[in-house]
Amino acid sequence: MPEITFKQLAENSPFEDRIARVNEIFKDCNAIVFFGGAGVSTASGIPDFRGKNGLYSKPDPEFIHYQPEYLLSDDCLRDNTQVFFDFYRKNLDTRKYEPNVVHKKMAELEEKGKALGVITQNIDGLHEAAGTKNIVKLHGTADKCHCAKCGKEFPVDFVMNMKEVPRCRCGGVVRPDIVLYGEMLPSGAMDKAYQMIGNADCLVICGTSLALPHIQALIDSFIGEYMIIVNASPTKFDAYADVVFREDLAEVFARIEVE
Ligand SMILES: [Zn+2]
Repeated sequence: MPEITFKQLAENSPFEDRIARVNEIFKDCNAIVFFGGAGVSTASGIPDFRGKNGLYSKPDPEFIHYQPEYLLSDDCLRDNTQVFFDFYRKNLDTRKYEPNVVHKKMAELEEKGKALGVITQNIDGLHEAAGTKNIVKLHGTADKCHCAKCGKEFPVDFVMNMKEVPRCRCGGVVRPDIVLYGEMLPSGAMDKAYQMIGNADCLVICGTSLALPHIQALIDSFIGEYMIIVNASPTKFDAYADVVFREDLAEVFARIEVE
């Protein structure tokens, strides 16, 4: 095996050089794993909860008396159930959005046997819609709902197409399968994420600043050959990445070659 010297292409290297390097790396790999955050969804027009155009930046007069985190917490669901669903229906209806070039390229690379799959912090169903089969959804999914009392599953339309609190025949509240503030991550999701990253030869970080300690620990577990970071702001892992992009995710992924 030839000796590999670490030569980073940081965000100030010419864009074309970095794109060429990513395509070279992808040719060499057959176990690429994508780790995605809000930036992957915003490229489809879904507002970022914390981002520039997110819910924090333009307070809605209807919910002015509540903190955004509270509106998506288990406390709010339990104590202010009507407010929870009013907010949820107004702000987290992801049904009308379509996958973008980022979702599509990830799915194509999996289909060609180049990528193992996607680990995402997003709750929309756009990776599934793009055709990705192997997805770890760390924060659950807004595509499904269930009765908090008996566990019966309900379609998302059931929750979205009414004004009152959605209830099961058993009397339980029907809630989305997402992880609310104050709740644990779904059982097994972190284990699966560790497993996928443990098998990766290339880790591509997309649209997330990796700020949370349990996410940093997960990324730290990566021992594969290459790391690529595409994020608008710096991350703790930039110094260890082979290639770093601050450019738009869609702009970068549009240039990825799938053979
Ligand atoms: Zn029920």
